[in-house]
Amino acid sequence: MRWPADYHMHTPLCRHASGEPSEYAARAVALGLDEIGFSDHSPMRRDDFDTWRMHLNELDEYVEKVRRAQRDFPNLTIRLALEADYLPGHQDWIRDLAARYPWDYFIGSVHYVADSLTVDDPHDIPKWKDRDAFEVWSIYFERLAEAAESGLFEIIGHADLPKKFKIYPKQDCTPLFERFLDRAAKTNVAVELNTAGLRKDCREIYPSRAFLELAARRKIPITFGSDAHAPAEVGSDFAAALDLARAVGYRQYRRFAARKFTETPL
Ligand SMILES: [Zn+2]
Ligand SMILES: [Zn+2]
Repeated sequence: MRWPADYHMHTPLCRHASGEPSEYAARAVALGLDEIGFSDHSPMRRDDFDTWRMHLNELDEYVEKVRRAQRDFPNLTIRLALEADYLPGHQDWIRDLAARYPWDYFIGSVHYVADSLTVDDPHDIPKWKDRDAFEVWSIYFERLAEAAESGLFEIIGHADLPKKFKIYPKQDCTPLFERFLDRAAKTNVAVELNTAGLRKDCREIYPSRAFLELAARRKIPITFGSDAHAPAEVGSDFAAALDLARAVGYRQYRRFAARKFTETPL
């Protein structure tokens, strides 16, 4: 089996992952992957923004950890990247981060639908009760479309993340998916198949098959990511992700170097 590159993995610097990059790399080699990429949660301008990301003064250490893994595993291609939060008004900050290192790609993710509401933090589940689920999903997909259109990212992370805790709106969300995908299709951005969803309450890859069928119809490119927060999660459920990609019609996926893509056959 020729595995796709695993482009979504974290490091202990984000304060909720374990294992050094070299340990993730060792796992990738053991599985037979030939390319991976680290995309840890990017710092914010203010370190007290939240508690689940590296601090700004840890960015050098992050890059050095990835460089060390590159030196330890010269036969494994290891990309240097970030998972950056898209929030309205943060575009200049993301550009600032982009200029600091020779990154290979940026994953743009929406976790926040308001300054005090994330869609993926279990601590925020009670806050959903004051909100209409469809409204939360609508804000989420509007922000996701803005992220795609911003041109700041090569990849859109875990595109249907609000399903994580199975808080589904009563309404059909297909129009939300279509609006996002129509806007994303006008850009060059890829959507990742993120297998972490299989490890969450929703027990489903991000994004769903229905979403991915709509993406394939619009020829939106794809990447693959385990969203590993521990070495054992590297490449997890990639067979299922490959099956899903092929089933909806994908024949290639993207790899990135120095923020330029190449298409690779699946
Ligand atoms: Zn994320
Ligand atoms: Zn992640």
